[in-house]
Amino acid sequence: MLEICPICGSNKLNDIFSCKDYFVSGETFQLVDCEKCGMRITADFPVESEIGKYYEATDYISHSDTKKGIVNSVYHYVRQFMLKKKVRWVEKSSRLKSGAILDVGTGTGYFANTMKERNWQVSTVEQSEKARDFAEKNFGLIGVASISEYVEQSNEKPDVITLWHVLEHIENLNETMADFQKLLKPNGTLIIAVPNCNSYDARKYKNLWAAYDVPRHLWHFRAEQMTILANKHGFKITEIKPMPFDAFYISMMSENYAKRSFAFFRGMWAGIAGFFASLFDKKMSSSLVYVLKKQNAD
Ligand SMILES: [Zn+2]
Repeated sequence: MLEICPICGSNKLNDIFSCKDYFVSGETFQLVDCEKCGMRITADFPVESEIGKYYEATDYISHSDTKKGIVNSVYHYVRQFMLKKKVRWVEKSSRLKSGAILDVGTGTGYFANTMKERNWQVSTVEQSEKARDFAEKNFGLIGVASISEYVEQSNEKPDVITLWHVLEHIENLNETMADFQKLLKPNGTLIIAVPNCNSYDARKYKNLWAAYDVPRHLWHFRAEQMTILANKHGFKITEIKPMPFDAFYISMMSENYAKRSFAFFRGMWAGIAGFFASLFDKKMSSSLVYVLKKQNAD
């Protein structure tokens, strides 16, 4: 059981509700909010040596690359759209057309490969051996298994580090942020995309919200807590961008969990509502992208 908030160090963690792991184990996990800084946390996540089995679903989408089923088809269509968007975000926020990029949590490697095709010098970190093999076989991406392995092997400093829906999985949150501060070039850019538990869809589905994804997601960020974490490690957030399309997929999954009839259409409807809500207020967006720069950079 986690007893201290990794963001502010407080030990006053209050129970919010429990969430079920619908994806793999069917087990239930407790979510807590930090009384001091508001950080939401999966309090009783399994230790690192035991969490592997919770990733072992045959259809865990970011690794298995299946195209079965309507929800997955939508996911794959949106992924193509989002790949182009991610490239634009990287090149705009770094003000570079090519450079060295470290992608952490590469998965099957679609984003990293897109950057490689645009002549970026790409390094990848991916824990799953299966996903690493896929990326090597399909895209020729040879990655390492952990950030510490990267630190040991590489003496080049990246211009950009990206984490697309990865930070919420990483147990050593503070050590990892400290690594990024050390690794990045002085004017480097750190791009972190995470689900937003303040979003329209999170509020609508509460403990059924699919992006709580316990116990694989340990940390559930809102902009306020991401700001504290960034500042604590010598970064400033220079931009926050909405990722409103995640609302469709997450809402459909949440409807599936709720076992309601017409889950696809209900999910689609909630996705549309969430999409429009985030046009008026980006903090209602299902996921958010944070652009971080070093505090002492100009
Ligand atoms: Zn806290």
